[in-house]
Amino acid sequence: CGIVGYIGFREAWPIVIKGLKRLEYRGYDSAGIAIINTNGFNIYKKAGKVSFLEGFTEDKDRSGHIAMGHTRWATHGAPSDRNSHPHSSNDRRLHIIHNGIIENYATLKEELINRGHQFESDTDTEVLVHLIQEIQEIEQIDLLEAVRLALNSVIGAYAIVIMDRENPDQLIAARKGSPLVIGVGDNEYFIASDATPIVEYVKNVIYLKDNEIALVKRGGLLVKRLDNVIQTPLIQELELKL
Ligand code: GLU
Repeated sequence: CGIVGYIGFREAWPIVIKGLKRLEYRGYDSAGIAIINTNGFNIYKKAGKVSFLEGFTEDKDRSGHIAMGHTRWATHGAPSDRNSHPHSSNDRRLHIIHNGIIENYATLKEELINRGHQFESDTDTEVLVHLIQEIQEIEQIDLLEAVRLALNSVIGAYAIVIMDRENPDQLIAARKGSPLVIGVGDNEYFIASDATPIVEYVKNVIYLKDNEIALVKRGGLLVKRLDNVIQTPLIQELELKL
């Protein structure tokens, strides 16, 4: 159960893989990464170790400067390739990674199925990405607002990161109950479950608070609360642990 995201100018794959390995101590059963480059969008996910995902993708396109990676500790749905994160909306536009539990997922899933959504996994997580996509499509609003509205109808604990194929130059992160740290660099940002994947790159971090959503772009970030109030995030300096 770990999250690592990167947006900036460096090759994202090695940062995310290394970061996921740093978070291995938290325990996990599967791993997955979504990565964007100028040719498009790639998702690789596998049950098993991070090193297994590395081997499996050796001959594949892993280039890109924006990526999000996940290690899963299954709560809903057996550990399998299919249940590994990221999960995607039916139109393949939105992609999510999630640590935590969506407690009211069964009700939400039933409602979504009744409205025509098709599910590809047994996870609680997949419900969230379908819900966000549906809200965005119906309300015709930007993704940040759709995520905010969706999270307002969700009960549970989460740290999430979302990618939008139509807006590949951003990541959206949110948390409630599960930790999430944003590393602040020069035209680059890191997102992680704790600071261990970030320390070697930047020393300034923002600890996202419960009920906060962050829109992260290369050149800057915007933090809002679930009640739509814009926040001024506190940038803290990481203490060097020797
Ligand atoms: N509840 C989600 C799942 O079972 C996320 C688990 C986690 O925290 O890794 O897929």
